[in-house]
Amino acid sequence: MSGPGFSVLSHLECSRCGHRHDAEVLQNLCEACASPLLARYDLSALDGPAWWASVATRAPDLWRYHELLPVRDAANVVSLGEGFTPLLPAAGFGAGIGVPGLLVKDDGLLPTGSFKARGAAVGVSRARELGATGVALPTNGNAGSAWAAYAARAGLRSRIVMPRSAPSITRKECSVVGSDVDVIDGLIGDAGAIVARELAAADRGDGWFDAGTLREPYRIEGKKTMGLELAEQLGGRAPDVVVYPTGGGVGLIGIHKALGELRELGVLTGPLPKMVSVQATGCAPIVRAFEEGAAESTAWADAKTVAFGITVPKALGDFLVLDAVRSTGGTAVAVDDAELLRVQAEFARAEGLFVCPEGAAALAAVQQLRGTGWLTGDEQVVVLNTGAGLKYPETVP
Ligand SMILES: *Cc1c(COP(=O)(O)O)cnc(C)c1O
Ligand SMILES: [Zn+2]
Repeated sequence: MSGPGFSVLSHLECSRCGHRHDAEVLQNLCEACASPLLARYDLSALDGPAWWASVATRAPDLWRYHELLPVRDAANVVSLGEGFTPLLPAAGFGAGIGVPGLLVKDDGLLPTGSFKARGAAVGVSRARELGATGVALPTNGNAGSAWAAYAARAGLRSRIVMPRSAPSITRKECSVVGSDVDVIDGLIGDAGAIVARELAAADRGDGWFDAGTLREPYRIEGKKTMGLELAEQLGGRAPDVVVYPTGGGVGLIGIHKALGELRELGVLTGPLPKMVSVQATGCAPIVRAFEEGAAESTAWADAKTVAFGITVPKALGDFLVLDAVRSTGGTAVAVDDAELLRVQAEFARAEGLFVCPEGAAALAAVQQLRGTGWLTGDEQVVVLNTGAGLKYPETVP
């Protein structure tokens, strides 16, 4: 075959120790140090500018970047039409808070109503390509609904465990597509312990694959497409600042990874954006670690916030988030629930968009950072709205 093929995936590399792993078999964590693995590509196989020009002519979904995604064969792509979400100017709300260059990327429009569809589309496609027949994961809700939906589309089984306090629609989304879903009393870490125990037990049979956050290398590749789209939508440039509501941190790490790959390909000019990690004051382990100058976070006790998707007391990839934030000159800030709910309503009135509480936290963080002077008001700032407000009707009186 001539040309680089559908994907230029080369191998998997440990994000901590650099140990190399075979990308052609199902893999979870690094076999040497149990850290997340990252996909590496043979970027030299692509003529960057020519590739970038051809991408612009392709269908408006995330598969337009297929060379930088891990699926080898186009026939294995499992799709519900995900990707290429709008990048909306929010000049009215932005001007009101002193940041007129505010843009919101609205991932609430994706299948299953959150950006988790990006990770699930790519993760499920690649898991099936490598022979998995079922995916199992703990979730705060949205990852479960996305992976369950894509598993159904792919003809795979799914096993989902989530906290009882997760948005109730997400459990229903899992059950309607035929997933084996349970709710538990506890947090996402407790759900993860149950999934791990089940996967270790022989009686669940073969073919089950552990698809927990950063426990397999391809969810992040799907989420990375947020960064690829941003660069394309901004005409081959990155914004000055990216503000991201952070739970496991996969999206933040993914956007940073994507922009690094584009820079290596010579299609992105200028510096990488400052990455801002936003958490809720009720669960802010990464913000605390950032402020303490620590390389990793410690588990947050009594985690609780209405922004359920970012209730992650200890993320496996925390050190990668902190590294992306620090290496770009970014920052990490926490916002309290009253503040983010106020901003959710204000933004809806100003712009007509009902963002999820996690997206509202990121908008509130922009206001906070303008207030402290960290933002001067001259920057182009992109906020990721990671889900649809429609999934959280109880946040509105
Ligand atoms: C999962 C989730 C997040 C956090 O995403 P990470 O990439 O894991 O940090 C933010 N917002 C919503 C709506 C989510 O579902
Ligand atoms: Zn390792």
